[in-house]
Amino acid sequence: MTERVIALVDAGRHKPLPPPVKPVAGPTRDRLGRTLRDLRISVTDRCNFRCVYCMPKEVFGKDYPYLAHDQLLSFEEIARLAKVFVAHGVEKIRLTGGEPLLRKNVERLVEMLAAITLPSGERVELTLTSNGSLLAKKARALKDAGLRRVTVSLDALDDPTFMAMNDADFPVAKVLAGIEAADAAGLAPVKVNMVVKRGVNEHSILPMARRFKGTGHVLRFIEFMDVGATNGWCMDDVIASREIIRMIDAEMPLEPIDPNYHGEVAERWRYRDGSGEIGVISSVTQAFCRSCTRARISTEGMLYTCLFATSGYDFRALLREGKSDAEIRAAIAAVWGARDDRYSEIRTAETAKERKIEMSYIGG
Ligand code: SAM
Ligand code: SF4
Ligand code: SF4
Repeated sequence: MTERVIALVDAGRHKPLPPPVKPVAGPTRDRLGRTLRDLRISVTDRCNFRCVYCMPKEVFGKDYPYLAHDQLLSFEEIARLAKVFVAHGVEKIRLTGGEPLLRKNVERLVEMLAAITLPSGERVELTLTSNGSLLAKKARALKDAGLRRVTVSLDALDDPTFMAMNDADFPVAKVLAGIEAADAAGLAPVKVNMVVKRGVNEHSILPMARRFKGTGHVLRFIEFMDVGATNGWCMDDVIASREIIRMIDAEMPLEPIDPNYHGEVAERWRYRDGSGEIGVISSVTQAFCRSCTRARISTEGMLYTCLFATSGYDFRALLREGKSDAEIRAAIAAVWGARDDRYSEIRTAETAKERKIEMSYIGG
């Protein structure tokens, strides 16, 4: 198979910042009235998996031009930016990637971010999404560093299916061990994310539901999305969340429950027999843009206001040009104030083909 190489410098196209805006008292609203509450930070563009829906091997081959170390934001730069975002209204920070646990000494970064306080005096809520491969080894250190919870991705319970999806021969048992280690370390409740792709792992829906029912872990089914430009997405590959709920409900009766907070991405359902809950993330069939309060910082410090963006704003330049916290905050206010993203609401077969930023770079 020939490898297509897409350079990240190209993938990380950026656009000029809008004129700075003096932050007003209270939360800044974007053009659709949404506030900025959540920040996802990608700490590496590298990964030890090659999930077919995220980093397909034929694109992310051994010659793939990953970012060099000096192109990444340093821990100090990430922590400084995070503090300014928190001063601006962010309450939750999620570390992601790529595989965030591949970033050397990530525990140190966790420690720096976990110490950030909200204007109310409470600590920022710090979580992390991982493929689980290194979690058995790192869960305790992450908890000790101040991490609150983890989300672990797992797409099947049988090795042939899971390995066909991670394309790295990685076995299910090691991810399960990572989930248990996270639980034992107190990073609970552990959320388990399963991306469902038609014809690939739909037969794993019921076994996954049975496996995690009654464990205290919260299994969440994610509709396969057209993130990036390399995963060959098409609507026929998507299994709608309502189909998943119907399938599980037929065997293990479910009832809907209220969201934990405004803007929660997953729709929650609980087992009628009281043995826990599951979630569905219907990014394709039931867009939730209206309550989207998320911004993303890419591995090299570009700010993106939508997962499906085609370009971002260069905040690394602001940091490295020596801008003050007040100037960076004014830039955040300007970008957020100009935001009108609602990609999932306007998705078509045509938009699905656009050269969007890869998820491994922008962070899921
Ligand atoms: N490597 C970590 C992991 O896999 O959990 C963190 C980064 S990954 C990009 C974040 C989340 O995005 C994972 O739960 C993954 O399954 C999900 N994801 C990646 N590509 C996706 C796609 N095309 N559609 C839906 N979810 C996707
Ligand atoms: Fe890696 Fe996560 Fe993407 Fe899979 S989904 S390739 S584990 S970054
Ligand atoms: Fe938010 Fe963009 Fe996803 Fe809509 S498509 S929910 S605006 S990230």
